[in-house]
Amino acid sequence: MKRLPIVTSIIASLALGLAASAIAAEPPAGKFDDKFRQLDELLPTATPYRTASGAPGHQYWQQRADYTIRATLDEANRSISGTEQVTYHNNSPDTLTYLWLQLDQNIYQPGSDARRVQTAPSREAWMKPQGEEGGAKFEGVRAVLTGREFDGGFKLSNIRTAGGAPLKYVVNGTMLRIDLPSPLKPGDKVSFGIDWSYKINEQKVLGGRSGYEYFEEDKNALFEIAQWFPRMAAYYDVAGWQHKQFLGSGEFTLEFGDYDVKITVPADHIVASTGELQNPGDVLTSAQRDRLAKARTASKPVLIVTQAEAEAAEKSVSKATKTWHFKAKNVRDFAFASSRKFIWDAQGYKKDGTSVLAMSYYPKEGNPLWERYSTPSIIHTIEQYNKYSFDYPYPIAISVNGPVGGMEYPMISFNGPRPTKDKKTGELTYSQRTKYGLIAVIIHEVGHNYFPMIVNSDERQWTWMDEGLNSFVEYLAVQAWEKDFPIGRGDPRDITAYMRSANQVPIMTNSESLLQFGNNAYAKPATALNILRETILGRELFDHAFREYSRRWKFKRPTPADFFRTMEDASGTDLDWFWRGWFYTTDAVDISLDNITEFNINTRDPEIEKAWQRARKAEEPVSITDQRNEGMERRIDRHPELKDFYNEHDQFTVTNADRNKYREALGELEPWQKDLLKQGKYLYLVDFTNKGGLVMPLILEITLKSGKKYIERVPAEVWRYSPKKVTKLLVTDEPMTALAHDPYWETADIDTSNNAWPRKATPSRLELFKMERKPNDMMKDFNAPLKGDEEAANGQKNGAKADAKGADAATPANGAAAKQQAETQQLKDPAPAQAAPARPKAEPNAEPAR
Ligand SMILES: [Zn+2]
Repeated sequence: MKRLPIVTSIIASLALGLAASAIAAEPPAGKFDDKFRQLDELLPTATPYRTASGAPGHQYWQQRADYTIRATLDEANRSISGTEQVTYHNNSPDTLTYLWLQLDQNIYQPGSDARRVQTAPSREAWMKPQGEEGGAKFEGVRAVLTGREFDGGFKLSNIRTAGGAPLKYVVNGTMLRIDLPSPLKPGDKVSFGIDWSYKINEQKVLGGRSGYEYFEEDKNALFEIAQWFPRMAAYYDVAGWQHKQFLGSGEFTLEFGDYDVKITVPADHIVASTGELQNPGDVLTSAQRDRLAKARTASKPVLIVTQAEAEAAEKSVSKATKTWHFKAKNVRDFAFASSRKFIWDAQGYKKDGTSVLAMSYYPKEGNPLWERYSTPSIIHTIEQYNKYSFDYPYPIAISVNGPVGGMEYPMISFNGPRPTKDKKTGELTYSQRTKYGLIAVIIHEVGHNYFPMIVNSDERQWTWMDEGLNSFVEYLAVQAWEKDFPIGRGDPRDITAYMRSANQVPIMTNSESLLQFGNNAYAKPATALNILRETILGRELFDHAFREYSRRWKFKRPTPADFFRTMEDASGTDLDWFWRGWFYTTDAVDISLDNITEFNINTRDPEIEKAWQRARKAEEPVSITDQRNEGMERRIDRHPELKDFYNEHDQFTVTNADRNKYREALGELEPWQKDLLKQGKYLYLVDFTNKGGLVMPLILEITLKSGKKYIERVPAEVWRYSPKKVTKLLVTDEPMTALAHDPYWETADIDTSNNAWPRKATPSRLELFKMERKPNDMMKDFNAPLKGDEEAANGQKNGAKADAKGADAATPANGAAAKQQAETQQLKDPAPAQAAPARPKAEPNAEPAR
């Protein structure tokens, strides 16, 4: 730090007030990068359907599709067949000559686009010898080979008008176009029917957001059924028909409607489903109905089917069938699960506009985790999400344990985590990761009821609009579960490794083109919104705006522009710079505190100023010559008569001439100017550079000589004239001894080593590896005694254990696999990885450098 006498120009600018205290240090060279230019060039022009404030416009419209479905689950053949009657309401101002429907099961056809466009993650990852992040896995190769043989996809027949006349249609991959016999005018509706069947995928083998699981031990299956009937594609003002092919990542864009569904299953099955059960008298015992009634007002989950009852049911297979009848109002999709293995518990929750029965269905393999955590997690989700959005409007909320790791549907979700069972002893244990993974995934999937099941964004286009917003509210919800919940998405410090990474695309990228799916569409938007809430807007402004967005677009279809505009409109804050930086670029936050200069105001009083100069001189180090000459006898000591005036005075002696000059100068100043010279403040010029590209507020922790500490917050607009470098003037009452930017790590700064003055060393650990290599002693191996079968099996099991956790990462991280990874792998790494500079991960198998 240099200490300089102040220059007059600074006094002048002080006199003008501190408004101009941030000085644009350098005029930008070449093109000026205006980080605050408005988003008009990127956002669509407002229309009567969507206003410039982000609300639905006065002519907002959306289509509607009502379904009547009758279906039969064939357990023995692992297939399902059904017939549906669709009534499509054309609320648009347009005349339609054809309709598009989604046939998402068609990704299981051997020649589907989804299969053909799959790529290996990378040559390096594929060929890596082993480990969770790379290497060929049994599961991955099995999925590819089985998928080539599996006869999946919809078999369609009898596509007909309401009167039964055949309709012309064309199948294009995962899309079905039905040509209408006469144009469908605005305000009109049309009904038609389709028969269909398909073979159900074994989820653990082929992956997917639905499927069945086979339990070797008791020879039973558990079915999680979704994307199981031809569904209307969305038609809306921004995209027209949303008929982008389903490749596996971009999910489902659907219309709201009412459903009347009858599902025929083996008589000993329990069915969990979207909607309300219409015929409990036909499918439930009177004991089950009594327990259900009790559950509505119970203070903890009530078992409707106990574990003992479920285990008894596993022992036989009924040849008879039962038909379960469900109705659901105003939902955008319909899913169900069915098995004789289900244990079933329920508990009611009622508050304000919400009156819901929370229910969990799980096989015995889910206990003891599921009976304790599933239903309480559902109720916790609804209690918390209601605070930040709107009251849960549906009568049912379900969590099912089955093969799918985590997937959401209206009123029902599929969640994977289970305890592990020791094969020999049968002992059930679970890791901390499994416990919190289960609670988090249930909160996440039940939370999807709000985004996108009710705030019905276009999932096939934008993954972040549902996953990002949902992960953000999930982050808030887990805070309310327990302190230090190990969630890995939301806290700015957890996103820095991703923000430093090379293979990124902006959040505003189509669902199918995302790189690093979970980080891009889940973690980054969730973190950005958390920063917006805690650092940019504050909780009060943010929560109001976010709630406003949720309520405006409840049961409607918002676009990104509607979200951006509503957040600005309702908070009264121009956030274009924030959306531009966080959603439209891959820039990171790296603000560096570079340089500090301290100033005191020059009083012009020679008594003060010359003493100050003398003190500075005295602070200079003693020269090496003077140090060694210490104690040397000098001539003037031996002959004091040689001393005169200049031996008594130096250049810091105040002369009368100095005093006269000061008096004259004072005479020319106004009284307020004289006061200013005496006020004794400390002024600091601090240089900041923006190395990461994202503009963010400066959050300055100032430490004074007395030990007093305080925070000054400078809005991001400080960068508006000069986005790469700014100089900020700080004023303190006493000398500043330390200054730190972003002391609470709230901006996701990717390099905190340049955030402090004085600089702090970054503590780290260096891991050393042995140089030795095992010699390949073939002669010894040849003569090694041969192991017995059991010994060999034990050895194999131990070897396999290490890979068990990596099973989820076995398939290439795209399509449904990417979604399943993203949904279920959202906890913090168990190792504390808090220090900002990323330490290269130790590779236990890596060869030491030789
Ligand atoms: Zn999700």
